[in-house]
Amino acid sequence: MKPKPYGFVPIAPKAERAPVPGHDVLLPDRYSGVIVLSVETLQPLHIGTGLIRVGEGGTLVGAFQRAGDWLVIPGAAVKGMARAVVEAISFSCAPPVPPGRHPDELPRGNAGSCSGDGTPPRLCPACGLFGFMRGGVRYRGRVGFGQFSAAPGTRTELQRLRQFYNPQPRNAHIYLNDRGEIRGRKFYYHGKRVDPVAAGGRLVYEVVPPGSRFTGELRVTNVTEDELSLLLFALGLDGSFAPKLGYGKPAYLGSVRFALEAANLRKGLQPVGNPVPWLVELAKAYGAVEGPLKEQVAVLRRVLDVDQPQGPPWDPVTRGY
Ligand SMILES: [Zn+2]
Repeated sequence: MKPKPYGFVPIAPKAERAPVPGHDVLLPDRYSGVIVLSVETLQPLHIGTGLIRVGEGGTLVGAFQRAGDWLVIPGAAVKGMARAVVEAISFSCAPPVPPGRHPDELPRGNAGSCSGDGTPPRLCPACGLFGFMRGGVRYRGRVGFGQFSAAPGTRTELQRLRQFYNPQPRNAHIYLNDRGEIRGRKFYYHGKRVDPVAAGGRLVYEVVPPGSRFTGELRVTNVTEDELSLLLFALGLDGSFAPKLGYGKPAYLGSVRFALEAANLRKGLQPVGNPVPWLVELAKAYGAVEGPLKEQVAVLRRVLDVDQPQGPPWDPVTRGY
């Protein structure tokens, strides 16, 4: 098999579900409040809108997301990324089985998703933090991301890209391990630069260059210290890996670094003094996890290692799949 621009984090061997708290009262042993985060781009970033505008000489350009005239990353994009990492490194629901693969190929102990049974519902860590909806059961979740706005003066550049091919989960040699199980959740490696083969295409995208900065808020309600630790680690706030955002991940776009700028947190009703250094320690604590999730954390760190990017040169035949 030719090297791929992605690796797989093995699915956790089990899911653990617990009753989730409501949103109406601040529980005395839980944390609520606002954490201000910055995002620095390490590679070009494209946050798409689906809108195409006509550029110079009639070229069609995929526009970067804006609020009015201001470049922004929508909170939903950050939330989706954070959820994907949380799912991968906690005892959360197995991912949906991709088309062409079979539920029997999931780990025996983690082959289903949350049902929403119970009052309040019993949910896995990811569904309990980010929200759950199934049948008539809806749980809002206790984590929200606001819009991330670009620093004043942030400019855009144009990035050419080839058309990517769709993932091919029917290819058992890519998607199954030697025991015939789904290899895991897919995460795209970082590269040293946008891959030159991938950049040889005719499609043009508006990107913000490396070194651009955005700022936004993370809001939490009634989260435990362990949940906060998981969530902050998932954003790479321990510094051991960098997540990816936006379009073009197979071509090595979208590498970003989050940083904690400020926080206003309460435990129950009691303000938490000087929370930022404590939050960094919480992020680091999750990275030191022992037991059955140690492998998931180690593989995620290897795949998302941005100091020694693991992304191989692009294969022009498979185009990123
Ligand atoms: Zn779940």
